[in-house]
Parts: sequence; structure tokens; C-alpha cells
Amino acid sequence: MANNITFTMIKPEAVANGTTGKIIDMIIENGFTIKAMKLKQLSKEEAGEFYAVHSERPFYGELVDYMSEGPIVAAILEKDNAVEDFRALIGSTDPAEAAEGTIRKAYAESKAKNACHGSDSDENALIEANFHFSASEMF
Ligand code: UDP
Ligand code: MG
Repeated sequence: MANNITFTMIKPEAVANGTTGKIIDMIIENGFTIKAMKLKQLSKEEAGEFYAVHSERPFYGELVDYMSEGPIVAAILEKDNAVEDFRALIGSTDPAEAAEGTIRKAYAESKAKNACHGSDSDENALIEANFHFSASEMF
């Protein structure tokens, strides 16, 4: 699957405020195929492990609390050039800098509560997909 899959999470505030369907519509309209998807509550331990690369950053504690405050929608998406194309679709981390037409421009509340995750490399896409899904949950 290398080079044509990415991993996403619709983050807790976006699930809670009812934008899940709108974000999934944008994902499908932009040519991504859903290979796996589930609603999932992360424990603090799981959120901390997922974002371990940021453990030395000042926002890490708040990020772990936020990402475990309610369910997320985790998904594996397939498309040619999936990682790069999905990062373009979600837009900049800070919605103030996100381009028109991006998911974060439309739905992010802030740089922290920014609606949607997207993997940053093919290697991390596989690691993140396998963190959330077993082989029997991937289609
Ligand atoms: N984040 C934050 N404050 C910052 C930078 C990041 O709260 O100054 C959060 C935000 O939710 C972001 C996540 O940490 O999506 C991971 O940060 P990263 O720099 O990897 O951004 P992303 O890859 O999600 O655009
Ligand atoms: Mg990142």
C-alpha cells in the first residue's frame, strides 16, 4: 500500500459539533477512497503515544487531553499521491493560514482544535494506520 494511502482522524471537537459528514464528503469529493473507518475513543495513553513525536513541545499536554476528550473518527484513505494530496486538502495547521477550500479553513476552530489530522509521510501513514486498525479492518 506504500505511496497511495494516508491516515486521518476527524478530531474530537469536529465529531462533537456535527461536522463529521461534511468532512467525509470533502474527502470523497476530492478523490479519496475509504479503506477503513471507525469511531474510536482514544485513552490518554493512546493519544500520548500517537503524538509522541511532539512530547517535548509545550502544547503536548493539552494536545493529549484534547485528543482524548471525546471520540474521533479514524480512517485510512487511498488515492495516488495520498499523503501529499491529503495534506493539501486539510490545509495549514493554523486555520488562520489555511487556504480557501481546505478542511481546516472550513471547520477548524483554532491551531490546536483544527478538525482533522493527516499523515506527514508514507512511512508515518503506515505506522499510523497500523496503530488504529488491524489487517481485518482494512478493505
Ligand atoms: N498543535 C497545537 N499547537 C501548535 C502546534 C500544533 O496545539 O502550536 C496541535 C494541533 O492539533 C496539530 C497537532 O498538535 O494538528 C500536531 O502538530 P503538527 O505540527 O504535527 O501539525 P499537523 O501535522 O497536524 O498540521
Ligand atoms: Mg503532523
